[in-house]
Amino acid sequence: MTRIAVLSALAEEQHGLLALLRQPQEIRHAGRDFWLGELHGQHVVLALSRIGKVAAATTATALIERFHVTRIVFTGVAGGLAPGVQVGDVVVASSFVQHDMDASPIFPRYELPLYGRSLMACDETLSALLFEAACNHLARVEAGFDTQDGVAAHRVHRGLIASGDRFVSAAAQSTALRRALRSAGHEALAVEMEGAAVAQVCLDYGVPFAAVRTISDRADDQAHLDFATFVREVASRYACAIIGRALRSLLNK
Ligand code: SAH
Repeated sequence: MTRIAVLSALAEEQHGLLALLRQPQEIRHAGRDFWLGELHGQHVVLALSRIGKVAAATTATALIERFHVTRIVFTGVAGGLAPGVQVGDVVVASSFVQHDMDASPIFPRYELPLYGRSLMACDETLSALLFEAACNHLARVEAGFDTQDGVAAHRVHRGLIASGDRFVSAAAQSTALRRALRSAGHEALAVEMEGAAVAQVCLDYGVPFAAVRTISDRADDQAHLDFATFVREVASRYACAIIGRALRSLLNK
């Protein structure tokens, strides 16, 4: 049986999905709540990754070992790093890097020791589905179907996302982070705190993984304020709409 895990970082992002879950069954495991049920015709498990790489890795491992999920999809918010990635844009990950991994000089900076790589690629099919769902959702928002507040034209990007155990909340930090990654040949679009950990667990277990992040802030001096407003007002709607579309199109595959 196909069972898809939908992992959110924050409760605000999970609310909307939880409300739509049919025949919900709550199971508490490893200090976390896992919600089993049906969403848009798919067997799913909804869970919170919690915040940071280790917490997210624990949740992902539990989803695979205990709940036998066959795919993991992550929905969350992130800080925009690359110049054109603005608040309200959506980034679909093509791959992940851990920006705080540094075992140099034993291993090159950013390389995962004993993995022989720095980047972890997402599943092509799943991430194409998320990309399409995100484009359709934004087009609908722009056309005024889902919102009354005149939203400026937002874009969907696809590329590298950097994860690490730090809320990046100063322009100087975000510039330094982007420069350091770039000097190793990595152009990151956005920064967050969980994706690369889930990607690594999924790589270990051979479970297809994809992630979509809505940009809540620019990882600059304003980040904490922008983040809080965005999470309260927009994150849940986006998570619900994009994941809903992706699950429905998975049914037709
Ligand atoms: N105390 C806050 C903590 C949020 S941490 C709260 O719960 O209200 C920020 C979360 O959003 C993390 O899950 C991270 O993945 C993502 N995120 C958004 N903007 C970020 C940024 N600028 N830097 C790092 N992570 C960011």
